[in-house]
Amino acid sequence: MLVVISAPSGAGKTTICRGLLKRHDNIRMSISATTRPKAKGEREGRDYFFMKNEEFETKLEQGWFVEWARVYGHYYGTPVEQVEKYLAQKKVVLFDIDVQGGRAIKKSYPDAAAIFILPPSLNELKRRLKLRKRDSREEMDKRLALALKEIEMRTKYDYTVVNADVDTTVSQIESILEAESLKTSRNVVTKI
Ligand code: 5GP
Repeated sequence: MLVVISAPSGAGKTTICRGLLKRHDNIRMSISATTRPKAKGEREGRDYFFMKNEEFETKLEQGWFVEWARVYGHYYGTPVEQVEKYLAQKKVVLFDIDVQGGRAIKKSYPDAAAIFILPPSLNELKRRLKLRKRDSREEMDKRLALALKEIEMRTKYDYTVVNADVDTTVSQIESILEAESLKTSRNVVTKI
């Protein structure tokens, strides 16, 4: 099963994905490649595959990505090999990607479940962005402007979850995953 999780920066997506990974050993995270600089505390191969523009562009030409996008002036892309490997192993694959990426995944894999995470309010989003002290003022303004656009796009998603409290959000996503796994189209029961 493929599960796209999109949210504006600062909505708490990374914490939510980590919570899901901790509680379920059949869930895997799709690790994207990016050309953006590594932030403090991030690790190569755990958070992203960090690469230079030329390397990304070469891999792009080689068809290495299921989807890719330029976000805030940097490349981001989902390596196809990883997704196929996890699918073959019957894992649940989580994609922490933006709205453009989410739509591209749905095109390639129409069965994917798409979940949009909303912050409880715009003020809370601003507060969280400030709190993490990762971005410059200019970067933060870019992220906020994009957040507003992304929030408008949430109607294209199958589910919307408001992240006021991480544990509640994780439980709500677990309910979505359970319902998705019971869909008739995925049902493995062929005979009774
Ligand atoms: P950040 O720089 O905060 O880690 O990520 C910026 C944005 O890029 C987030 O909305 C994130 O979900 C998105 N993103 C991360 N990886 C990918 C990817 O592989 N493809 C696309 N389309 N977006 C991605």
